[in-house]
Amino acid sequence: MNPQKKLLDWYLLHKRDLPFRKKKQAYPIWISEVMLQQTRVAAMLPLFENFLKRFPNPESLAKATEEEVLSYWKGLGYYSRARNIRKAAITLVQQYNGSFPKDLNSVLKLPGIGNYTARAILSIAYDLPFAVLDGNVKRVLSRYIGYTKNILGPKADVELQEKADEFLNQSYPGDHNQAMMELGATICLPESPKCLLCPLMEGCFARIHGKTNEIPLRQKEKKQILLKGDIWAIEKGNEYLLIKERTNRFLKGMFHLPYGFMGDLPDPVYSPSPFLEYLRSHWKEVSHIGSFQHTITHHKLDFSIFHIAITDPKELKTILERMELDFKWVKRDDLEAEFPSSLAKKVRTRLSS
Ligand code: SF4
Repeated sequence: MNPQKKLLDWYLLHKRDLPFRKKKQAYPIWISEVMLQQTRVAAMLPLFENFLKRFPNPESLAKATEEEVLSYWKGLGYYSRARNIRKAAITLVQQYNGSFPKDLNSVLKLPGIGNYTARAILSIAYDLPFAVLDGNVKRVLSRYIGYTKNILGPKADVELQEKADEFLNQSYPGDHNQAMMELGATICLPESPKCLLCPLMEGCFARIHGKTNEIPLRQKEKKQILLKGDIWAIEKGNEYLLIKERTNRFLKGMFHLPYGFMGDLPDPVYSPSPFLEYLRSHWKEVSHIGSFQHTITHHKLDFSIFHIAITDPKELKTILERMELDFKWVKRDDLEAEFPSSLAKKVRTRLSS
């Protein structure tokens, strides 16, 4: 029996009962794949079901405001994914009558959909012959074929994609892709793979040569960036100021507490907003109420929190309007709902203490 057939038989016997795999429909498969990019299945499932209840199809998603979509993404992080999902839904409604196109290039043009997601949707929903390559598949494949180069290297994705395409089961591409991902998630684990339970054990290079600890080789090239900054809790009564900026590096386009970085910045893209610069130079009556650390991708942020209570918001309003910034005042208890980032929770904890 060829390895693809063994893999398929194993998958059909062992696959997990997951709601987004029940029907071969592009829309739920798309949403689930995007959610799963940074989140484990168990954590993502309740949010997925909630999201699908509110946005059961591209039309409902396209009609919703960005803020509402972001609020349904709360808990998943990496909010640019939610913004892109909404934009892509608008394109699907406007250009494809609410359906997913069936060719790879058209799907790749949709906002936020990369090679992996496009291939996953097309193979799982439409059984089209596109092999996927995510972290789990890279590990299984590189061990199986004996790919000993750095899988984080510049050519690795192209070379492994070729190998994945060659290894694809052309008759059942959707199930084959899911089988590879499932094998990586449950059997071919990063540490201590369960080779004796693996349907690919007979021909596996890493198992035969005792190299499962060495393959895949992962040599990180991206250095962590450390940033020091301040975040401002400006209070009026029991309400806090949230602003929306277009140019900042993080939380772009969403309401957030004013924040900025300082010191030797590694890149102008981290420069503080003009609004923060203004606050720092004109408002001296602020209290330092705490600090915390926060991580976003390869950035480690070291934030000090400043608090100021104001009674007359006129000056502030004038500055915000002059700078053409959207803003709103929200109650302390609503901070996390209105500013859906774990940053809000960290600030709110300090405000309450
Ligand atoms: S035999 Fe072991 S190392 Fe090879 S694919 Fe299976 S679980 Fe992974």
